[in-house]
Amino acid sequence: MIPPAIQRPALRFAPSPNGLLHLGHALSALLNADMAGALGGRFLLRMEDIDVIRCTPEFEQAIYDDLAWLGLDWERPVRRQSEHLDAYRAALDDLIARGLAYPAFMTRGEVKAHVATMEAAGGKQGAPWPRDPDGALRYPPVDRERSGDERRRMIDEGTRHAWRLDMLRALKECGGTLSWTETGDGETGIIAADPAAWGDVVLWRSDAPSSYHLSVTVDDAAQGITHVVRGLDLFHATSVHRVLQTLLGLPAPVYYHHRLILGPDGRKLSKSEGDTGLSALRAEGATSADIRRLVGL
Ligand code: GLU
Repeated sequence: MIPPAIQRPALRFAPSPNGLLHLGHALSALLNADMAGALGGRFLLRMEDIDVIRCTPEFEQAIYDDLAWLGLDWERPVRRQSEHLDAYRAALDDLIARGLAYPAFMTRGEVKAHVATMEAAGGKQGAPWPRDPDGALRYPPVDRERSGDERRRMIDEGTRHAWRLDMLRALKECGGTLSWTETGDGETGIIAADPAAWGDVVLWRSDAPSSYHLSVTVDDAAQGITHVVRGLDLFHATSVHRVLQTLLGLPAPVYYHHRLILGPDGRKLSKSEGDTGLSALRAEGATSADIRRLVGL
């Protein structure tokens, strides 16, 4: 018998074309490409462009220009999330049909107001409302507890809604504990996932289709990604991705969460910081070798 083909390693750099790349992106892209080379694997690109208002073709082109200037080459065609909404919707519909996702009707303002009321009712002894690992208020259980009839009525009435994962049910369905293999710049080894810390994460927004968590999970599988190399700011999000991978029957890549490049003020770089933008550095005469040095490679 012919032995099964061993999947060729595949890595991806997945920027959002909603701004110019900075040094933090350069580190991520270079690490992905270097590791793909070292593993004899593929280097793929993915445009995380679901937010059609903030993502533009100009920013997308600027990303290609910057990456080419860095000396990188990637497989074509590039996967654009905006072209795969059907795949994310199919994954969402699957979760809805299995009773693992529910319509969430509260706006951000309503969540805040609800939490303020609950905290006030708890008095001085009341514990503060739990926050997710990103510091956002966890979604209240109000909508999760609605009956099927009520949900249908509200949807039929045209009430704006997102879709959220019913995390408790999801974890029951996954059974046992989830973990991932981490090889990055922080904690390494087998990491126990803690998805409950996130609460009922959003899967589909009322104003923009699909969420980061759902699309990244579907895409990594669709692109055959074996090694996810990305910033340490997404370390805890991996817990959510492991849940979705398990529910959707998708393989788990190995993860490498890399150190972040901080600005002079010690904060994470953001796309609006012109001084660390790659195109600005290029215009000042920097070379790709300078960029490698600047990011410590
Ligand atoms: N699009 C995300 C970002 O620009 C990266 C997503 C990922 O690597 O999982 O931060």
